[in-house]
Amino acid sequence: MGKLFDLEASGYFYTRLQNPTNDIVASKLCEMEGGYAAMLTSSGQAANFFAVFNICQAGDHFIASSSIYGGTYNLFGVSMKKMGIECTFVDQDLPLEELQKFVKPNTKCIFGETVTNPTCTVLDFDKFSKLAHNNGIPLIVDNTFATPVNCRPIEFGVDIVTHSTTKYIDGHASSVGGAIIDSGNFDWMAHADKFPGLTTPDDSYHGITYATKFGKAAYITKATAQLMRDFGSIQAPQNAYYINIGLESLHVRMERHCKNALKVAKFLNENEKVAWVHYSDLETDKYHDLQQKYLPKGSCGVLCFGIKGGREQSIKFMDSLNLITIVTHVADAKTCLLHPASHTHRQLTDEQLMEAGVAPDLIRLSVGLEDADDLIEDIKQALDKI
Ligand SMILES: *Cc1c(COP(=O)(O)O)cnc(C)c1O
Repeated sequence: MGKLFDLEASGYFYTRLQNPTNDIVASKLCEMEGGYAAMLTSSGQAANFFAVFNICQAGDHFIASSSIYGGTYNLFGVSMKKMGIECTFVDQDLPLEELQKFVKPNTKCIFGETVTNPTCTVLDFDKFSKLAHNNGIPLIVDNTFATPVNCRPIEFGVDIVTHSTTKYIDGHASSVGGAIIDSGNFDWMAHADKFPGLTTPDDSYHGITYATKFGKAAYITKATAQLMRDFGSIQAPQNAYYINIGLESLHVRMERHCKNALKVAKFLNENEKVAWVHYSDLETDKYHDLQQKYLPKGSCGVLCFGIKGGREQSIKFMDSLNLITIVTHVADAKTCLLHPASHTHRQLTDEQLMEAGVAPDLIRLSVGLEDADDLIEDIKQALDKI
């Protein structure tokens, strides 16, 4: 027991730190992502918080794409700000030279999403890994929508990958969870002054220096031994069991999600009542080149579109659907949709919505595993009603 507490031996002594069920699932995800070490967290929110907080402390700064998931945007822009950590949100389509201007001496990492929720844009890994590595800091990417089946960000220079396993990985809305996978590629000791939490002794662990004692496993070991010990956001082993079942069919489901989504996207693109469609697998999409480069098998099952006529027509369309349901959840076996302007962001005016980067007419459609023709038929009859 003494050796376990001193991190001299590895083993199981309390589930808040480690559990064999969680570890086997984390190790599968680690292999799928091509990482070196991984851990599960209680939610995607906890994963993204831990991923950044593991290397940032009060007085530090980091950069995130402004197109990221709203929950992460709040976490970075509001809650972490209260902890003294400042985040600058940037337009991810800016050229490298422009992005460089946001980097400060106390900038500790860069954060983005492979495919953004809900705007479905694709991150330029080459540009962002250059930005991070030119400045001696790691690139963290939330790979929730793509999953390791469609994209392995580590192969494109990403250092740390996060997930909300609640989405495709679970796949059936059965459990909430998250994961962090470290490539082990970032050399903390080469930038020792920037990352004292990893490169100087941890007094709460008898003076262990994570980077020298654990090498490539330093980042995950610190996040487990220190953050998980103190914050307790461990994934319930029962939830890990559920996502383990999900992982077994992930490769089959992702193929079907993408096939269905492309068919639905093409239908929407050709319908005269639809103002616009964003789905990077479409050849006409602004992000198609990046999709071809980084996610050639397909991006994911989520797309977004707008209906001519604004909020009123969008609401009428959604209320007319029979098979497709209005749900907050996304990336699920069942097709669902959400209209931020009348749901999650309903208190905002159209002007405020635009400021938040969400078009007032944006409908996020998460295409599931049903027969694509049934989905198209449902969408068609609802469009016909407006
Ligand atoms: C849902 C989601 C999260 C948050 O995950 P939870 O499991 O709901 O806490 C983070 N990032 C992305 C891209 C998501 O879609």
